[in-house]
Amino acid sequence: MTNYDITVVGAGPIGSTYAYKMAKQGYDVALFDMKNRIGQPLQCAGLVSTNICGTKNLPKQFIDNEVRGANLYSPDNNSIRVGKDKTVAYVLDRVMYDKYLFDRAQDAGVDAHLGERVLDVDMDNTIIKTIDRKYSSRLITISTGPTCHTSEKMNPEIKNDSFLGLQYTVRTDNVDTDYVNLSINKQLLPGFLWEIPTSPSTKRVGLFTKGSYRDAEKLLKNRLNVNDRIIEKHNGLIPRFNSKRKIVQNNTILLGDAAGQVKPTTGGGLIAGFTCAEIASLNSNKMLEEENNKYLLDYEKQYHKRYDNEFKAQQNVQNIIEDMEEDDFNYMFKQLKEYDVDKIISEHGDMDSQTPLLKELVKTGIIFKLVPKIGVRRLKNIWKSL
Ligand SMILES: Cc1cc2nc3c(=O)[nH]c(=O)nc-3n(C[C@H](O)[C@H](O)[C@H](O)COP(=O)(O)OP(=O)(O)OC[C@H]3O[C@@H](n4cnc5c(N)ncnc54)[C@H](O)[C@@H]3O)c2cc1C
Repeated sequence: MTNYDITVVGAGPIGSTYAYKMAKQGYDVALFDMKNRIGQPLQCAGLVSTNICGTKNLPKQFIDNEVRGANLYSPDNNSIRVGKDKTVAYVLDRVMYDKYLFDRAQDAGVDAHLGERVLDVDMDNTIIKTIDRKYSSRLITISTGPTCHTSEKMNPEIKNDSFLGLQYTVRTDNVDTDYVNLSINKQLLPGFLWEIPTSPSTKRVGLFTKGSYRDAEKLLKNRLNVNDRIIEKHNGLIPRFNSKRKIVQNNTILLGDAAGQVKPTTGGGLIAGFTCAEIASLNSNKMLEEENNKYLLDYEKQYHKRYDNEFKAQQNVQNIIEDMEEDDFNYMFKQLKEYDVDKIISEHGDMDSQTPLLKELVKTGIIFKLVPKIGVRRLKNIWKSL
């Protein structure tokens, strides 16, 4: 049996970043991925707010495009534009970016095991098993994305707790590279449709949904314009946030999508994942230095402290949205315009943290004008989580 300080299962962006951070601290780290080619196939729209710069994980060469805001469309095709007069988000080349993060980990000394699927994690003995080998370590970090047997072992009640994400890369004419388009469709709620410009002639058109692949595909194809030519198709799972999900057991932790560390309203997981990789690496270091796994529980606590309020508020919004009818949205868009809410969204909106905007809408009472069906009890739920 081969021994390491740390085995990391899953060389997506979050697992590779965590492995890199641990190797830089001098630990003997092994990083496993069942794929041979990291980053492929693409399973992401690649949209991240400029807050990603704070994580110090993004060299500029992986930015395909910069956007200043979004056009939001109601079911009856009314729209409002929100944004700023500067870049608010980047569109990334996720394939090359994932590869870069993986190469960076290897360059820092991580021992990479590509094409090696981990079949089981023995959390009592801190051993992982592949088809023909076993590896022991002092700490196991699982960053396998949303389909994670280990997460199910820790949280037996969590099954199928994910949305489906489906996306086409499309070649087309006259793409407005400054704005993303987001559209509401009753069939997808609480999901939505997106169009993300990657260049003047290409965009990513996608959606996320609780529904079936077949229905999603039908909807997405209907969404395309006559000049849109599909050049690639991708799909993947987006985990649902669950504040009760356990992410630590003995000397094993979950990280990134495997831990459900994604924004509930959009399914975006890169920035939250990078932030959690930093929290996990600091606590993993203490755990290994002091041989005390209480620090892994500190990782869990610090993650909840950092994200629970924000994600619960987003989940409350999602629950309200899920119950709305198309007419409610059409009405809401009319009210948005009448009360100049586009200006409030542009000023207080933040892709990663929606509580400042919610606070403003609750404080001014505008939220009741937008969503007449919202009851006092539900408003209290939002208020409590702010
Ligand atoms: C359609 C779609 C669009 C998205 N758009 C955005 C977006 O615009 N912005 C954003 O921030 N986020 C977006 N996301 C979410 C984002 O892609 C994820 O949050 C991010 O990839 C999570 O990274 P990760 O490293 O945790 O997991 P992953 O990227 O899922 O990587 C997991 C890795 O683990 C490997 N693995 C799995 N099981 C095993 C095993 N048993 N043994 C060995 N290896 C294994 C996999 O091969 C994979 O390489 C999107 C997701 C989808 C599906």
